[in-house]
Amino acid sequence: MFLTPHTSVALWITTKVDNPGLAFVFALISHFILDIIPHGDESIGKHKAKGRARFFYLVKVAFVDIILATILVYYYIMQNNGFDRMIMVGALMGAWVPDFLWIGIETFRLRFLNFYIRFHSRVHRLIDWHYSPVYGVPFQIIFTLFMIKMAF
Ligand SMILES: [Zn+2]
Repeated sequence: MFLTPHTSVALWITTKVDNPGLAFVFALISHFILDIIPHGDESIGKHKAKGRARFFYLVKVAFVDIILATILVYYYIMQNNGFDRMIMVGALMGAWVPDFLWIGIETFRLRFLNFYIRFHSRVHRLIDWHYSPVYGVPFQIIFTLFMIKMAF
């Protein structure tokens, strides 16, 4: 799943707990729960281009995703005064770490951490149902909007 929906859940968690550590743990759990739900973006990673072209395609997708996630966090900060920023930071770390870890392991070829890659992709295959990003992207947008409505 894209980082933006994970981020929206992290912001919602920020409104629910009063402790950064707890926010981190809940957001971490939320990441894997969301990853279990079939979310229709698996085929984006299997883009037909190979090698560098595929890499740059994925970087472009990730770039847009990270920009959107950052805008979300920015608006949350602007909309809410006097909340504990550390709780938000804890929640964001919990929601982002699972994917950054995965990207880091792949990028730097940290073979000894490959068990994590296997775990992360096993989570995605728990419900083995794939569908097109044509539905997956709108699904993730609607989900994000719903979570924003809950959090803001
Ligand atoms: Zn993930």
